[in-house]
Amino acid sequence: MALKCNVCQSERPVLKRPKNGSALCKTCFFSCFETEIHETITTGQLFKRGDKVAIGASGGKDSTVLAYVMKLLNDRYDYGLDLYLLSIDEGITGYRDDSLETVKRNQHQYGLPLKILSYKDLYGWTMDAVVKETGLKNNCTFCGVFRRQALDKGAVAIDCNVIATGHNADDVAETILMNILRGDVARLKRSTNIVTNCGDNDGQSEGTIPRVKPFKYCYEKEIVMYAYFNSLDYFSTECIYAPNSYRGFARTFLKDLESIRPSVILDIIHSGELMSLKETTIARLPARGVCSRCGSISSQSVCKACVMLEGLNSGIPKLGVGKSSKVDAIRKPIDSCVDKRLDF
Ligand code: SF4
Ligand code: ZN
Repeated sequence: MALKCNVCQSERPVLKRPKNGSALCKTCFFSCFETEIHETITTGQLFKRGDKVAIGASGGKDSTVLAYVMKLLNDRYDYGLDLYLLSIDEGITGYRDDSLETVKRNQHQYGLPLKILSYKDLYGWTMDAVVKETGLKNNCTFCGVFRRQALDKGAVAIDCNVIATGHNADDVAETILMNILRGDVARLKRSTNIVTNCGDNDGQSEGTIPRVKPFKYCYEKEIVMYAYFNSLDYFSTECIYAPNSYRGFARTFLKDLESIRPSVILDIIHSGELMSLKETTIARLPARGVCSRCGSISSQSVCKACVMLEGLNSGIPKLGVGKSSKVDAIRKPIDSCVDKRLDF
């Protein structure tokens, strides 16, 4: 007898869900996938009626599926949200220029307005130029700091009050694992949050606009399958500057574990959520202020992006990525009791 879908008991299954092993037909998979995201959104109270939501859109699978599903659920459940696509052009030839073409098509396919901000316009540097200056060692540190700030600036420019990102369960589990391996207790606590930047004050997520992760419990594999079965238009090439980083090793380790025990991704997230951390072991969070140079939210007198820019512009790019007396001379904690571990 041919195998039947575990939900409808009539159609032929097209996949086995990695998170619980159930075999589902296409229709039931769509329904489960979408309903679970709706539950994540409502249980986590990620949005309220009238919110203007900037969907961080890179053209990759996660953000393309996010834009598609957000539009679908907003219509289906009448969330009352105003949705926008917000893209950051890092200036990476052969990668971001191509993926942005995908986002430009998505704006028409989904009928969502699109705003693109470039590093070149914001900072005067493309990532191609940064890599020429710094080599391939710290490129992602520059890129990550610039992107966090650029997303905030972009959301402000289009008057959005929430940023939704396509971080999926694999990303969250990876980050929890990395923070455990590094003993970074402050970040470990934050890495399990579904909403960040809502007063969590740290050098990592300096900013004012809350960020939410509707895909926190979605497996990457299911996002890929959802995109595939819906024939969504997304860009799948990796960044040409993607490094062999610590995160890459954590990812490989996680994939190895997943091949033996598929539930490991959700298990790690639940472990992170349930971990209770003694207040005394959590580094004190620095006070929030405003960067004296660019006006961005910062826990220091000069924000990290401005220190990095000063390094680039003065021909000493290491200034922005290391801890040196030169950096200390530029940056003064707004609260002098700040635990430095939080800042870099
Ligand atoms: Fe930027 Fe690194 Fe990501 Fe490339 S891999 S887009 S350089 S953060
Ligand atoms: Zn600044």
